[in-house]
Amino acid sequence: MTHIKIAVIPGDGIGKEVMEQALKVLNFLQEHDSSLQIETTIFPWSSDYYLKHGRMMPDNALNILKEFDAILFGAIGDARVPDDVTVWELIMPIRKSFQQYVNFRPIKSLAGIASPLAIGRDIDFVIFRENAEGEYSDSGGRIYHNQPQEMTIQNTIMTRIGIEKIVQAACDYASKNGKTKITSATKSNAIIHSMKFWDEHVRRMLEQGSATLELESIYIDALVAYFVERPQDFQVVVASNLFGDILSDLGSALVGGLGLSPSANLNPEKDFPSMFEPVHGSAPDIAGKGIANPIAQIWSLALLLGHSGRSDLEELIVHAIETVLREGNVRTADIGGQATTAQMGDAICQEISKMNVSTRGV
Ligand code: ATP
Repeated sequence: MTHIKIAVIPGDGIGKEVMEQALKVLNFLQEHDSSLQIETTIFPWSSDYYLKHGRMMPDNALNILKEFDAILFGAIGDARVPDDVTVWELIMPIRKSFQQYVNFRPIKSLAGIASPLAIGRDIDFVIFRENAEGEYSDSGGRIYHNQPQEMTIQNTIMTRIGIEKIVQAACDYASKNGKTKITSATKSNAIIHSMKFWDEHVRRMLEQGSATLELESIYIDALVAYFVERPQDFQVVVASNLFGDILSDLGSALVGGLGLSPSANLNPEKDFPSMFEPVHGSAPDIAGKGIANPIAQIWSLALLLGHSGRSDLEELIVHAIETVLREGNVRTADIGGQATTAQMGDAICQEISKMNVSTRGV
């Protein structure tokens, strides 16, 4: 019997629409698998909540969330609220307080989905983005406001422990999944303090590790070009917060776009709940139309179930997604079709039902 307590934060815009479909899949799984007991609690923390209460989430939100096994997050962002408020008052406190220092993003080419690259097949790698420090720190400030000598400093914070933890997580994944090479994104030729520090500790970790993993360190400007020229060569990419963020969006674009790209913010030690969310934002341009692709959200749910000990269900959902895409009868607008968000959710449930969920439970 698996019992998982999930906090659900649909958020803004299409976040609410795609979350509905992920919950549909979850309910469907539960109805067909007696070994699965999921308890979900929905929290309305969003831009609407901010406009009503003057804050993105209540003061005790982190204490509330701490009691859950995992968080399923939709998307955040609304033109009525500054982006730094939505990000720094909701997503960042969760990622940082719960030490979700790994941002894990699978990048995989899918049958039935055209890549913008001529050589877009056989892409299958993962990105481990450092998620708790680095370039995304709130250390810094501005002085001499509105004067000619006005100036600002934005600090990058890199710690030995922070680098060790993300590299360890990447190496553990590589060993467990039969990978032989780690690619590190760097820029130590120009960012001579923090990035040299990054290189040094990445190299040390690889040398000390028990597994024999090849390490390649590539300057970020060259690495983005290699992502386009030879994406099949990568297995596990490890990167700082900013570099990992950019590489992840590029990676998604290579395999079909944001509507298909899941992510996980992991606390590998499981001292705190991990958070699972699509890479995309709230997409105000299509919000409310019922046409968003729910696959990234449903795939994020799959990652959540895998992290919670049900890799059989993760595989089942991913297999259903792959089958629906390969058959191509149901497609949302972003991947060249006319199906609605709900129709895509239904198609995935239907595919799962063909795979006889109940016999796969443990
Ligand atoms: P943010 O800054 O929060 O990332 P954004 O508006 O810049 O928000 P997204 O919300 O990710 O970025 O949207 C970027 C583009 O991708 C938009 O044109 C949007 O319509 C499209 N898009 C994003 N997610 C989906 C989806 N699930 N289905 C279809 N189209 C999507």
